[in-house]
Amino acid sequence: MSKIDENIGRVLFSEEQIRNRVLEIGKRISEDYKDKEPLMIGILKGSAVFMSDLLRAIDIPCRIAFLTARSYGLNTTSSGKVNMDEDIERALGTKVEGEHIIIVEDILDTALTLSTVCEKIRELKPASLKVCTLMDKQVQRSIDFKADYKCFDVENEFVVGYGVDYAENYRNLPYIGVLKPEIYSK
Ligand code: 5GP
Ligand code: MG
Repeated sequence: MSKIDENIGRVLFSEEQIRNRVLEIGKRISEDYKDKEPLMIGILKGSAVFMSDLLRAIDIPCRIAFLTARSYGLNTTSSGKVNMDEDIERALGTKVEGEHIIIVEDILDTALTLSTVCEKIRELKPASLKVCTLMDKQVQRSIDFKADYKCFDVENEFVVGYGVDYAENYRNLPYIGVLKPEIYSK
Protein backbone atom coordinates (compact mmCIF):
# COMPACT_ATOMS: atom_id res chain seq x y z
CA MET A 1 0.00 0.00 0.00
CA SER A 2 1.40 3.38 -1.02
CA LYS A 3 1.81 6.41 1.19
CA ILE A 4 -1.32 8.05 -0.23
CA ASP A 5 -3.50 4.91 -0.27
CA GLU A 6 -2.93 4.62 3.49
CA ASN A 7 -4.96 7.78 4.10
CA ILE A 8 -8.03 6.50 2.26
CA GLY A 9 -10.69 5.07 4.57
CA ARG A 10 -12.92 3.60 1.86
CA VAL A 11 -12.89 3.23 -1.92
CA LEU A 12 -16.09 4.65 -3.45
CA PHE A 13 -15.48 4.02 -7.15
CA SER A 14 -12.78 1.72 -8.51
CA GLU A 15 -10.72 2.36 -11.62
CA GLU A 16 -12.88 -0.10 -13.52
CA GLN A 17 -16.17 1.44 -12.39
CA ILE A 18 -14.92 4.87 -13.41
CA ARG A 19 -13.68 3.62 -16.79
CA ASN A 20 -17.01 1.97 -17.61
CA ARG A 21 -19.10 4.95 -16.56
CA VAL A 22 -16.92 7.47 -18.41
CA LEU A 23 -17.22 5.34 -21.57
CA GLU A 24 -21.03 5.38 -21.24
CA ILE A 25 -21.18 9.14 -20.80
CA GLY A 26 -18.75 9.67 -23.69
CA LYS A 27 -20.99 7.54 -25.91
CA ARG A 28 -24.06 9.57 -24.94
CA ILE A 29 -22.30 12.85 -25.67
CA SER A 30 -21.11 11.49 -29.04
CA GLU A 31 -24.71 10.62 -29.95
CA ASP A 32 -26.24 13.86 -28.65
CA TYR A 33 -23.70 16.00 -30.51
CA LYS A 34 -23.25 13.87 -33.63
CA ASP A 35 -23.98 16.79 -36.00
CA LYS A 36 -22.11 19.36 -33.93
CA GLU A 37 -18.55 20.00 -32.82
CA PRO A 38 -18.78 20.75 -29.10
CA LEU A 39 -16.26 22.84 -27.21
CA MET A 40 -15.65 21.15 -23.86
CA ILE A 41 -14.57 23.49 -21.08
CA GLY A 42 -12.90 21.83 -18.11
CA ILE A 43 -12.93 23.58 -14.75
CA LEU A 44 -9.42 23.45 -13.32
CA LYS A 45 -7.87 21.77 -11.64
CA GLY A 46 -10.26 19.04 -10.46
CA SER A 47 -11.66 18.11 -13.87
CA ALA A 48 -8.30 17.54 -15.61
CA VAL A 49 -8.14 13.75 -15.16
CA PHE A 50 -11.84 13.24 -15.91
CA MET A 51 -11.57 15.45 -19.00
CA SER A 52 -8.65 13.50 -20.41
CA ASP A 53 -10.56 10.20 -20.17
CA LEU A 54 -13.93 11.64 -21.24
CA LEU A 55 -12.33 13.22 -24.29
CA ARG A 56 -11.02 9.86 -25.45
CA ALA A 57 -14.45 8.28 -24.88
CA ILE A 58 -15.98 10.72 -27.39
CA ASP A 59 -15.71 9.74 -31.05
CA ILE A 60 -16.97 12.85 -32.84
CA PRO A 61 -14.98 16.01 -33.62
CA CYS A 62 -14.67 18.09 -30.44
CA ARG A 63 -12.33 20.64 -28.90
CA ILE A 64 -11.25 21.38 -25.34
CA ALA A 65 -10.36 24.43 -23.28
CA PHE A 66 -9.90 25.08 -19.57
CA LEU A 67 -11.05 27.68 -17.08
CA THR A 68 -10.04 28.19 -13.46
CA ALA A 69 -12.84 28.45 -10.91
CA ARG A 70 -12.78 27.45 -7.27
CA SER A 71 -14.87 27.83 -4.15
CA TYR A 72 -13.14 25.43 -1.75
CA GLY A 73 -9.60 26.78 -1.37
CA LEU A 74 -7.53 24.58 0.92
CA ASN A 75 -10.51 23.56 3.10
CA THR A 76 -13.02 20.72 3.03
CA THR A 77 -16.10 22.95 2.81
CA SER A 78 -17.18 25.62 0.33
CA SER A 79 -16.03 29.15 1.08
CA GLY A 80 -19.28 30.50 -0.37
CA LYS A 81 -17.36 32.67 -2.81
CA VAL A 82 -16.26 31.77 -6.34
CA ASN A 83 -12.87 32.78 -7.67
CA MET A 84 -12.62 32.56 -11.44
CA ASP A 85 -10.72 33.92 -14.45
CA GLU A 86 -11.87 37.47 -15.17
CA ASP A 87 -11.42 37.42 -18.94
CA ILE A 88 -13.02 34.11 -19.91
CA GLU A 89 -12.28 34.06 -23.64
CA ARG A 90 -8.70 35.01 -22.99
CA ALA A 91 -8.33 32.22 -20.42
CA LEU A 92 -9.97 29.74 -22.82
CA GLY A 93 -7.91 30.87 -25.77
CA THR A 94 -11.02 30.76 -27.93
CA LYS A 95 -14.35 32.53 -28.42
CA VAL A 96 -17.61 31.23 -26.94
CA GLU A 97 -20.17 32.94 -29.18
CA GLY A 98 -22.01 30.47 -31.40
CA GLU A 99 -20.28 27.43 -29.86
CA HIS A 100 -21.91 24.33 -28.39
CA ILE A 101 -20.37 24.37 -24.93
CA ILE A 102 -20.14 21.46 -22.50
CA ILE A 103 -18.76 22.43 -19.09
CA VAL A 104 -16.81 19.56 -17.51
CA GLU A 105 -16.63 19.62 -13.70
CA ASP A 106 -15.37 17.25 -11.02
CA ILE A 107 -18.05 17.70 -8.34
CA LEU A 108 -21.37 19.51 -8.29
CA ASP A 109 -21.95 20.39 -4.63
CA THR A 110 -23.84 23.54 -3.56
CA ALA A 111 -23.79 24.47 -7.31
CA LEU A 112 -22.43 27.91 -6.50
CA THR A 113 -19.38 27.34 -8.71
CA LEU A 114 -21.21 25.97 -11.74
CA SER A 115 -24.11 28.42 -11.59
CA THR A 116 -21.59 31.30 -11.52
CA VAL A 117 -19.56 29.81 -14.38
CA CYS A 118 -22.70 29.15 -16.48
CA GLU A 119 -23.99 32.66 -15.92
CA LYS A 120 -20.71 34.16 -17.15
CA ILE A 121 -20.54 31.79 -20.14
CA ARG A 122 -24.15 32.61 -21.12
CA GLU A 123 -23.27 36.30 -21.31
CA LEU A 124 -20.87 35.34 -24.13
CA LYS A 125 -23.77 33.93 -26.21
CA PRO A 126 -22.93 30.27 -26.86
CA ALA A 127 -25.20 28.36 -29.29
CA SER A 128 -25.93 25.92 -26.45
CA LEU A 129 -24.67 25.16 -22.95
CA LYS A 130 -24.67 21.86 -21.06
CA VAL A 131 -22.94 20.60 -17.95
CA CYS A 132 -21.19 17.25 -17.41
CA THR A 133 -20.06 16.40 -13.89
CA LEU A 134 -18.08 13.44 -12.62
CA MET A 135 -19.85 13.46 -9.24
CA ASP A 136 -23.07 15.01 -7.96
CA LYS A 137 -23.71 15.74 -4.25
CA GLN A 138 -27.41 16.50 -4.59
CA VAL A 139 -28.11 16.77 -0.84
CA GLN A 140 -25.76 19.72 -0.61
CA ARG A 141 -27.48 21.91 -3.19
CA SER A 142 -28.14 25.52 -2.16
CA ILE A 143 -29.12 26.63 -5.69
CA ASP A 144 -31.59 24.87 -8.01
CA PHE A 145 -29.22 23.33 -10.56
CA LYS A 146 -29.18 20.08 -12.55
CA ALA A 147 -26.31 18.50 -14.47
CA ASP A 148 -27.12 17.34 -18.01
CA TYR A 149 -24.63 14.46 -17.73
CA LYS A 150 -23.23 12.88 -14.57
CA CYS A 151 -21.19 9.82 -13.83
CA PHE A 152 -21.91 9.24 -10.13
CA ASP A 153 -24.12 10.45 -7.29
CA VAL A 154 -22.28 10.78 -3.98
CA GLU A 155 -23.35 11.33 -0.38
CA ASN A 156 -22.13 14.28 1.62
CA GLU A 157 -18.64 12.91 2.26
CA PHE A 158 -15.31 14.48 1.42
CA VAL A 159 -13.90 12.56 -1.53
CA VAL A 160 -10.50 12.57 -3.26
CA GLY A 161 -8.74 10.91 -6.18
CA TYR A 162 -9.07 10.80 -9.98
CA GLY A 163 -8.12 14.48 -10.20
CA VAL A 164 -9.93 15.57 -7.03
CA ASP A 165 -7.67 16.90 -4.28
CA TYR A 166 -7.32 17.58 -0.60
CA ALA A 167 -4.94 20.56 -0.18
CA GLU A 168 -3.56 19.77 -3.68
CA ASN A 169 -2.76 16.14 -2.89
CA TYR A 170 -4.41 12.84 -3.90
CA ARG A 171 -5.20 13.95 -7.48
CA ASN A 172 -3.03 11.11 -8.76
CA LEU A 173 -5.05 8.30 -7.13
CA PRO A 174 -6.53 6.27 -10.00
CA TYR A 175 -9.77 5.62 -8.03
CA ILE A 176 -12.15 7.78 -5.96
CA GLY A 177 -12.17 7.35 -2.20
CA VAL A 178 -13.13 8.90 1.11
CA LEU A 179 -10.28 10.34 3.16
CA LYS A 180 -9.87 9.12 6.72
CA PRO A 181 -11.43 11.88 8.87
CA GLU A 182 -8.27 12.13 11.00
CA ILE A 183 -6.41 13.42 7.93
CA TYR A 184 -8.38 16.64 7.69
CA SER A 185 -9.35 17.07 11.33
CA LYS A 186 -5.68 17.30 12.29
P1 5GP B 1 -19.93 24.05 -5.26
O1 5GP B 1 -19.64 25.43 -5.74
O2 5GP B 1 -20.86 23.28 -6.15
O3 5GP B 1 -20.38 24.04 -3.84
O4 5GP B 1 -18.54 23.33 -5.17
C1 5GP B 1 -18.05 22.55 -6.15
C2 5GP B 1 -16.57 22.39 -5.96
O5 5GP B 1 -16.25 22.12 -4.61
C3 5GP B 1 -16.08 21.19 -6.73
O6 5GP B 1 -15.72 21.54 -8.03
C4 5GP B 1 -14.89 20.76 -5.91
O7 5GP B 1 -13.76 21.48 -6.35
C5 5GP B 1 -15.24 21.16 -4.51
N1 5GP B 1 -15.75 19.98 -3.76
C6 5GP B 1 -17.02 19.69 -3.43
N2 5GP B 1 -17.09 18.53 -2.74
C7 5GP B 1 -15.83 18.07 -2.66
C8 5GP B 1 -15.24 16.89 -2.09
O8 5GP B 1 -15.88 16.00 -1.53
N3 5GP B 1 -13.89 16.77 -2.22
C9 5GP B 1 -13.13 17.71 -2.85
N4 5GP B 1 -11.84 17.50 -2.91
N5 5GP B 1 -13.64 18.83 -3.38
C10 5GP B 1 -14.98 19.00 -3.30
MG1 MG C 1 -13.88 22.00 -8.90
